[in-house]
Amino acid sequence: MKKSVSTYRGRLAPSPTGHLHLGHARTFWVAAERARAAGGTLLLRNDDLDAIRFRLDFVAAMLEDLRWLGLTWEEPIISQSERLPLYRAALARLHATGQIFPCTRTRRDVLDAIGAPHEGGENDEPVYPPQFRPPADAPLPPLDDAGRAFNWRFRVPDGETLAFDDAALGPQSAIAGRDFGDFLVWRKDGVPSYQFACAVDDADLRITEVVRGADLIKSTFRQLLLLRALGAPAPVYYHAPLMLDAAGVRLAKRHDALSLRTLRERGATPLEIIAQFSFSNPPG
Ligand code: GLU
Repeated sequence: MKKSVSTYRGRLAPSPTGHLHLGHARTFWVAAERARAAGGTLLLRNDDLDAIRFRLDFVAAMLEDLRWLGLTWEEPIISQSERLPLYRAALARLHATGQIFPCTRTRRDVLDAIGAPHEGGENDEPVYPPQFRPPADAPLPPLDDAGRAFNWRFRVPDGETLAFDDAALGPQSAIAGRDFGDFLVWRKDGVPSYQFACAVDDADLRITEVVRGADLIKSTFRQLLLLRALGAPAPVYYHAPLMLDAAGVRLAKRHDALSLRTLRERGATPLEIIAQFSFSNPPG
């Protein structure tokens, strides 16, 4: 086999919290097409840190669905649940440079302080009230080995504009402290947040382009801050437009009728499914 000389490294990062639907399939297909067009490498990261919604049978199902669709990736797959020592080491670096602080406030405290309902998606969180933030020069309590003493948040550079040029959607920008605040990097149940695990992985796996759904654009600003704090280069980002159902509502895992399993049971072929993507959303 010809060895790839391309430096492109992409990843598929499904979460095993439900069955993949047509929207996931389109995003993953775009990711695979872009890696293929660049002659690069594609990895598969299993985002299995969500202990509450995680199910082992969903891991098997998502791999089977992706293979059925014809997608291939470099083995072995990378499971986040097996990488806790890596995340802990990265947390220790942010702790050593004073870029995180311990947080004992509850979600309710935060919502009460901002006095407004929060409308962000599952990977978004309300702007952390500045009055809850300890002074920058306050000494940090030590990190315990298991990371279970506190929740830890990243201290964002208030007022800084963060910008990146999205390969699909063009220029994007957000202001730290206004559009998003000090965000969770580590929960006291001993598990990193999605933002943190994702940034550490993208750095560690030397990902050069992240292809994912446009619902994660706000997360990208947080991850750019984390990558910078960890001294890692930022990848290119390609946020694929989200797929809507017939009523104009974004597809979610509850849309069982549009899950790849159901479509397959009803006789759809991978080619039919992919043909829809190539017309509706060229990856270029
Ligand atoms: N596992 C995440 C999700 O399904 C995607 C994370 C990413 O691509 O960065 O929302």
